[in-house]
Amino acid sequence: MAVQASLRVLRTPWMERISRELASGENVRAGFSEQLSRFYELLEQTIVTGDTAWLDPILYDWGRSPTETNLEHADYYVSFVLNRMINLTISVARDYLSPEDALELLAVVIPALAHSLSVVVRYEMETRVTHISNELGKVQDKLKFLDRNKSNFISVAAHELKTPLTLIEGYASMMADRVTNPDPALMKNYLNGVNTGIQRLRHIIDDMIDVSLIDNDLLTLHVQPLWISHLLHLIQNEFKRTLEERKQTLEIVPFEGNDLMIYGDVERLYQAVNNVVANAIKYTPDNGTITINGRLLPGFVEVTVKDTGIGISPENQSLIFDKFGQLGRADLHSSGKTKFKGGGPGLGLSITRGILEAHGGTIWVESEGYDEAKLPGSTFHILLPTRTEPTDPVMTKFFGQFEQPAEPKETEPSGKENPPTHHPAA
Ligand code: ADP
Repeated sequence: MAVQASLRVLRTPWMERISRELASGENVRAGFSEQLSRFYELLEQTIVTGDTAWLDPILYDWGRSPTETNLEHADYYVSFVLNRMINLTISVARDYLSPEDALELLAVVIPALAHSLSVVVRYEMETRVTHISNELGKVQDKLKFLDRNKSNFISVAAHELKTPLTLIEGYASMMADRVTNPDPALMKNYLNGVNTGIQRLRHIIDDMIDVSLIDNDLLTLHVQPLWISHLLHLIQNEFKRTLEERKQTLEIVPFEGNDLMIYGDVERLYQAVNNVVANAIKYTPDNGTITINGRLLPGFVEVTVKDTGIGISPENQSLIFDKFGQLGRADLHSSGKTKFKGGGPGLGLSITRGILEAHGGTIWVESEGYDEAKLPGSTFHILLPTRTEPTDPVMTKFFGQFEQPAEPKETEPSGKENPPTHHPAA
């Protein structure tokens, strides 16, 4: 029998056996059969014409078809299929043709299939290499970004550390000049100046330590009962003078959930919320308003800190929570905790997020955009779980008696008479 006639005889059993052996599931089998049928036709053309180029388009499609999952797992499915196809073709030819016809057919089909296998392997390799270089490119971009962040941080940190240092140097040299003829009032003034510089230095260094604790998962929480309203009023008190200086108003709206006793690290939560409020003051011009509000959600209390400041552009809204996520140029930074736009090293919000996440909470921001003229403002949303039981059994023993139901309606106002004794060092 001529090779072409043998190919016609084998077509149906070949298709059936290969789909049965290599495609699982009805849906896969339907698509697979179409592909097989196309392949078989091209194989016939190749054998009739003796030109393997007929197979190239389908082999190209197959070799370039791996999915992301195939690529990640180095799963060479098509070359596996072709490999098996060679063995199955031999067995189908043996079952459906005479030994002579089978031999005659296989003598032309096997080289065509072997050629297909080598082409597909090459395409698969090329696709995988492209995939790996893309992945490498992504890693490189990430490393470059981290490196830029690091150098940016070094320049901001150096700038931040230099300002208080210059202050300390200035006051110290003025004191040295007056040491032979000291005036107590003047000396006290100078010493105050030195002190302010030292405090600023401490603040920056503390922030750096906190970032490294958070990065290394070493932040330890000293959990105790607390009331959000209490925390907010402490913060309001801390900023009283600043708010007067900046002619700003800080309004705390009593909201459902603010009287609820929750468990958390008072000092750390104070620090977290304090950072957000300090930023609201910093990025709002004089005469602006900061409003703290919130609501009770299932399992969470949400606190919102809304300002009437410069706002944040949408593309920066997630970046600001990253380390060194301060926007704008380091060398243009003015130092100062609450001065208008007085940027810090860009660690505040990343520490805030770290603290809130350690409590099982989170933070995000909403703002229409950045505009120093129109002042669209920003609203920071802080989410804290309303855990009614401390995780530590010793805590349960000590504080279990203060526990309140999660529903605010049933909240005992007397609970507030037992505020935590451990106050943050404001
Ligand atoms: P920084 O030390 O620079 O204040 P933060 O981590 O506290 O660092 O904040 C990161 C950046 O987010 C700030 O540099 C500022 O650009 C932006 N930002 C934070 N809070 C506000 C806000 N309330 N309004 C506008 N921009 C803000």
